[in-house]
Amino acid sequence: MRVLRRASELEELSRDAGLIRLTPLMALVAQSESEVAESLRDAGARKISVTPRGGGTSIPSQSVGRGAILLQDMKRVEVAASGDVRCHPGLVKAELNKALGQDRWMPIDPSSYATCTVGGMVANNSSGLRTPKYGSVIDYVRGLRGVVPGEDAKALLPMALDEALGGEPRTRKAAFLIVENQSKIAEERPKVTKNSSGYRLERVVHDGLFDLPKLFVGSEGTLGVLTEVTFATRRRPRWRSLFIAESSLEELDRVVSAFREHSPAALELVDKSVFRMMNRWDRVAKYSRSDSPYMVFCEFDGEEGDGASKAEEVAMSRAGGYDPIVMQSAAEIQGAWDARNETLTLAQEIRKGPKILVPGVEDLVVPPERLGDLVRLLIDQFGKRGLDYISYGHAGDANLHARPFLDPSQPKDMATLDGLMEECFEAVWKMGGSMTGEHGDGMLRAKYLERQYPGTFWIMRELKTLFDPKGILNPGVKVA
Ligand SMILES: Cc1cc2nc3c(=O)[nH]c(=O)nc-3n(C[C@H](O)[C@H](O)[C@H](O)COP(=O)(O)OP(=O)(O)OC[C@H]3O[C@@H](n4cnc5c(N)ncnc54)[C@H](O)[C@@H]3O)c2cc1C
Repeated sequence: MRVLRRASELEELSRDAGLIRLTPLMALVAQSESEVAESLRDAGARKISVTPRGGGTSIPSQSVGRGAILLQDMKRVEVAASGDVRCHPGLVKAELNKALGQDRWMPIDPSSYATCTVGGMVANNSSGLRTPKYGSVIDYVRGLRGVVPGEDAKALLPMALDEALGGEPRTRKAAFLIVENQSKIAEERPKVTKNSSGYRLERVVHDGLFDLPKLFVGSEGTLGVLTEVTFATRRRPRWRSLFIAESSLEELDRVVSAFREHSPAALELVDKSVFRMMNRWDRVAKYSRSDSPYMVFCEFDGEEGDGASKAEEVAMSRAGGYDPIVMQSAAEIQGAWDARNETLTLAQEIRKGPKILVPGVEDLVVPPERLGDLVRLLIDQFGKRGLDYISYGHAGDANLHARPFLDPSQPKDMATLDGLMEECFEAVWKMGGSMTGEHGDGMLRAKYLERQYPGTFWIMRELKTLFDPKGILNPGVKVA
């Protein structure tokens, strides 16, 4: 195992894509599963916290910590005849895509897919552009291996529920906790198409199974350290067509509803102002034909048939009165998505004096039919505080990435952010939504988790204590 202690190395690991900076005591680079187990044993004995880390691209601060940062230097990937793919969690998603080749696909590509790792994606339950059709990471995890504190590495696999209920004490207790509280869990589940807040308790017991991997998906490194991931894959679509329409924020719901009727794979909001502010207007200029401040990218795909007939169907309906640009060449479509995928990278560099675009309410999600209400909420909340903001994201899932300009060094601005989070979260919960559709709770939202799940948060706490009794994994994150 390599140990990193140099100030420059630790400085690099003191940040992720969030607001909180914490300099770790050390970083450990494990080169085998047994080294992962050893590092957890040592940390437990020395009462040092451990923060597993992949690419460090997390937004609400869950891949930084004061103790040891645990990296894994293992990159194996194996594709089985069944199409399932087994890989090390340290593998970057773009490398997994390459290994799968032209025929197979694990369709969840976050915009950060060129740098984020498979382990970080599983631990955050990440999503990509194409969630309306293809879901989130939780829909693809078949099995895991990992180390929970106090144990050696082991398989974390779905098992028959009866077996779990009569199994070893930890599994038995976890299974009873979930089974006995299933109706409360179902009642409190946000009624959304994607969710990365809390543990995904409602997905653990299904079809006579105790699906332990689903408990680890979205657990943000708080229950165990993953050492291997097995994903289901799909055939790659044979064709795609991309429509680009324009809209104001106020009209967004109408444009999105019109496209949604045709069952798209992706339905995205793009904020033109980000490209203008960063002098990168050239990246999107050719898709813009009006002064409307936003664009809506809507993609259809299929394994059968062709894009032309779908394009005709959508164009014929002229739903919503929009007049979109239509693309069918793979290269053109990829070019448009590449431009869209730069949004957050560009946004992270935008400055208005000392003000930056801060996260906090950057990942709100509500039931898709409540998109209009979410947009109105954001306009009202930013408006009444006089805040400039950007807004982009996954309009088809009513999951918007809105960020206001604030100065994180000013207590007054941070108090504004607190008030904004408080009021937006309350409103989103009333709509049946969640604080985070794909970025996770991290340290930023941990203190609100009990209010999102007032009747089941205690179960999340018990599960945390069951798997990590000494609280060495990612303290302050999620179930703090
Ligand atoms: C420019 C940009 C664009 C983004 N776009 C998207 C997007 O489109 N969709 C989306 O969902 N997210 C997006 N994100 C957020 C982020 O990229 C994703 O959540 C990503 O999957 C995190 O992966 P990572 O390897 O960087 O994980 P890290 O940030 O390193 O870690 C994430 C979490 O996983 C835990 N973890 C990491 N490895 C392990 C392991 N082996 N075992 C257990 N726990 C582990 C960490 O402790 C942490 O809690 C974006 C971020 C940026 C900066």
